[in-house]
Amino acid sequence: MAKLTALGAAREVGRSSFLLDVGEKFLLDRGIKLGHDETEYPLPVKTNLDAVIISHAHLDHSGNLPELFKKSNPFVYMTQPTLDLSNILWQDSLKIAKIEGIPVMFSPVEIKVAEKFTFTIPFRKKINLSESTSLELFDAGHILGSSMIKIQSEEKNVIYSGDFKIEETRLFKGADKRIGKADVLIIESTYGDRNHRERKDLEKEFAEEVQNTLHNDGFAMVPAFAVGRSQEIIDILYENKVEAEIFFDGMGQRVAKTTLEYPELLKNPKSLGKALHSVTWVKKGKRHPALKKPCIIVTSAGMLEGGPIMWYLKKLYKDKNSKIFLTGYQVEGTNGRTLMEKGKMDLDGEIVKIKNQVQQFDFSAHASQDELIQLAKLTEPELVVCVHGDEKVIKVFQKKLKQEGFNSAAPKLGEEIKLD
Ligand SMILES: [Zn+2]
Ligand SMILES: [Zn+2]
Repeated sequence: MAKLTALGAAREVGRSSFLLDVGEKFLLDRGIKLGHDETEYPLPVKTNLDAVIISHAHLDHSGNLPELFKKSNPFVYMTQPTLDLSNILWQDSLKIAKIEGIPVMFSPVEIKVAEKFTFTIPFRKKINLSESTSLELFDAGHILGSSMIKIQSEEKNVIYSGDFKIEETRLFKGADKRIGKADVLIIESTYGDRNHRERKDLEKEFAEEVQNTLHNDGFAMVPAFAVGRSQEIIDILYENKVEAEIFFDGMGQRVAKTTLEYPELLKNPKSLGKALHSVTWVKKGKRHPALKKPCIIVTSAGMLEGGPIMWYLKKLYKDKNSKIFLTGYQVEGTNGRTLMEKGKMDLDGEIVKIKNQVQQFDFSAHASQDELIQLAKLTEPELVVCVHGDEKVIKVFQKKLKQEGFNSAAPKLGEEIKLD
């Protein structure tokens, strides 16, 4: 009997990891949850795995993969760009841990072994995991290399959406709708309770607000996720012809280089290339020139948890003319969320009041409620398993699923559910 155990991302966003048992045992994702004070890990895997499949490189899906290799050597499957980006993020995790003196769950040795046991596969190339089970990855339209995972076995056909977006964004064409049907759909629920604003309007308003900040003699600080968002933001500013120097700092630079290596996966690689080459790439330790006169600073971390943005904030947080543009989902308990809700944040161990203006722009790379339902309709499952969403959001989403005629479940952390 087919079963699914939620080892993480159960009624929460973060540390995605699911044990799928369809006669053989597969682990879907192995992420971490970066909180303000601590990192949370998924529950341990207490069984032998036939394979591990990673949907995409974001740390909440890939961040703890190397740790598995302390105890065993499972085969891992993912796309090549997912491996490239995960590698950048794993190395960065080790670097940050060293600087901040926090424990890490793995060493460079485990990263090497993880790479050795990873097979990269392109989208829409079905491979056999065993005599009776196949795996196929479909473009999820979320970040570079992100995939929706389809596992077909004698017992059940299962689709795991990972994080996905059906509508096109600035960088990507949107999820591949040729994914076909499944008995079970395990689906992200990040925005299960709402729909997003029209993308074009949002981009225009963002560019205008950035320009206004500069006219008012302020700095426009744009903390953005290193993977995907920071490159997208630069593309938006370029396309909307915002007049000011743009400083691009942090790990997003390496991700940008990797992104341009995969033009076939991008919607408009030429325009992105032009945009990325039009900005000033800040060299290590050379941040001061950015502070000479009002400009735009695009840098990580997107939720204000570390990264170069902290350096800029320390210099600028008292300036009323400057503005912080939050550009993505802010996880509960992070600095970004606290700033939105209370106007304060932790700067170098001290809670300070931020005098800058703050505005959030929801440039989501996640499916809105409409897109979530659209995927359910495309795949026609008997059961929808809702994961990767806050508890309250999942409640609303399950209600909507019911209205649309779908059975759904939302496992708790550690809970095993039957897929029949
Ligand atoms: Zn993601
Ligand atoms: Zn995620």
